[in-house]
Amino acid sequence: MTPSDLNHSASATALDTDHAPADDVRPLQPSTQAMHADDYLNRTADVAPPLHVSTTYAYPHEPKDLVPANHLDLETFEGYIYSRMTAPNATRLEAILSTLLKGRALTYSSGLAAIHAAYVFLNPKRISIGDGYHGSHGVIDLHRKLTGAKKLPLDCPASELHEGDVIHLETPLNPTGEALNIAAFAEKAHSREAVLLVDATFGPPGLQDPFAFGADIVMHSGTKYLGGHSDMLCGVLAVRSKDIFWGLYNERVYLGSVMGSLEGWLGARSLRTLELRVQRQSQNASSLVAWLNALLHPDQASSGQDPSLSSGNAAMVGKTVERIAHASLQATDMDWLSKQMPNGYGPVFALWMQGEELARRLPSKLRLFHHATSLGGVESLVEWRRMSDAGCDPRLLRISVGVEHWEDLRDDLLHGFKALADEIGKGLP
Ligand SMILES: *Cc1c(COP(=O)(O)O)cnc(C)c1O
Repeated sequence: MTPSDLNHSASATALDTDHAPADDVRPLQPSTQAMHADDYLNRTADVAPPLHVSTTYAYPHEPKDLVPANHLDLETFEGYIYSRMTAPNATRLEAILSTLLKGRALTYSSGLAAIHAAYVFLNPKRISIGDGYHGSHGVIDLHRKLTGAKKLPLDCPASELHEGDVIHLETPLNPTGEALNIAAFAEKAHSREAVLLVDATFGPPGLQDPFAFGADIVMHSGTKYLGGHSDMLCGVLAVRSKDIFWGLYNERVYLGSVMGSLEGWLGARSLRTLELRVQRQSQNASSLVAWLNALLHPDQASSGQDPSLSSGNAAMVGKTVERIAHASLQATDMDWLSKQMPNGYGPVFALWMQGEELARRLPSKLRLFHHATSLGGVESLVEWRRMSDAGCDPRLLRISVGVEHWEDLRDDLLHGFKALADEIGKGLP
C-alpha cells in the first residue's frame, strides 16, 4: 500500500455505524464492542491504536481519483482531508461511541461545545429546561442572545411548546444525582412535535439508554465518564436520524469545535474500560448512599452486625449532615426508574450539610477524596459546589465516587464527620 492508499483506506464513512454482524451471529455485548467497534478503522498492525498528529492528509495519487470538495458525496467519500472535518483518532472514538450509544455519534471539543452545536443546528424558538448543570444555561443564554429564543420551565404545560422547540432534559441531574423520567418527557415533546435532547452525562452507556425511552438527541460531556480519568475535555452528540447526523457534521466543520487527536486517542483508550469503571463506581456510590441513609434514618434501618452503623456513628452523622440525594433513594419512582437505569443509579450523589461552614470544612478532613470540581473520573472527588456554581445551596457537597474500595471511602467519610463533630463540640463558628 502507498501512503495515500493507507490514508484513504479508512474513510469518513467510519462515522457510519452500519457494521452490524450478519443476522445469524449473536450481536456482541457492549463490553466486547468497546474493545472492537473501531477495529475496521485500524490502518496499522499496532494492537494499541497510534496517535495521529497530522492536520492534513495526502490526496489520492491518481488524478482520476481526485474529487473536488463540492462534489463529495458525504455518505461515501473516502479518506481524510483536513482534521477540522474528520481525523483518525476522533473517528475511532466516534465509531466506538456510535456502537455504545446506539446512535451516530459526533465528538466536540467539550460538553458545552456539543450543546452549543445542538442549538445552532436545531435553532429552537423555545427551550424547556429545569435545574441542572449551570453551564448548560450559560450556553442557552448565548443562543438566546443571538436568536431571542425563550426559556420555559421544564414543567411548562405541553401547550406552550411548538414544532421545533426543544425539551432539554438532564438526567440524572447535576449536582444531586436524582433522575427524571425520560419516557414521560419524550411523550410530552413528541405530542407537540418538539425535540427531546437528553444530557445523559450522569448516566453513561451501561447505566442508561435514552434512545430506548424516546430521546431524539443524546448528549454527553465526554469529559466525565467517557474520558473517565480527568485528563480530557470532550463533548458528544448522538442521533438516530441520518439527516440530523449529516446536518450536525456539516455545521461542525464551520463551528470548528472538534476535539484534538490526543483526546480522540485518550477517549478510545478510556472506552475500553467504560463498563468496568462505571459499574464499579455506581456500585460504590449506591453502597455509600445506602450506608449514609441508614445512619441518617436509624429508625428505618436494620443495622444488624455492621459496626459502622452504630448509634454513635448515627448521632455523629445526624449532627453534621442534614440530607442526602441520589437516584437510588427515589423510592416512589422505582416503577419507571428501575427500567430506565436497570444496572445502577450512577456514581454521583449530594449531601446537604447542617450548615455552610460544615460544607466548607468537610473536604479538608478527607484523605481519599480530592476537593475539586468535575466528576466521572476513576478517583473520588468531593466539591463544595458553591465554588463553581454561584446558584447552588451553600450547604451542598457533590460527591463523585471513583473506583476505590467503597469501605475505604466509607471510613474516610466517617473520619471526616467525626472531625467535624469534634469541632462542633468545641464551638464551631
Ligand atoms: C460537565 C457537564 C457538562 C459540560 O461539559 P464540559 O465537558 O465541561 O463542557 C454538561 N452537562 C453536564 C450534566 C455536566 O456534568
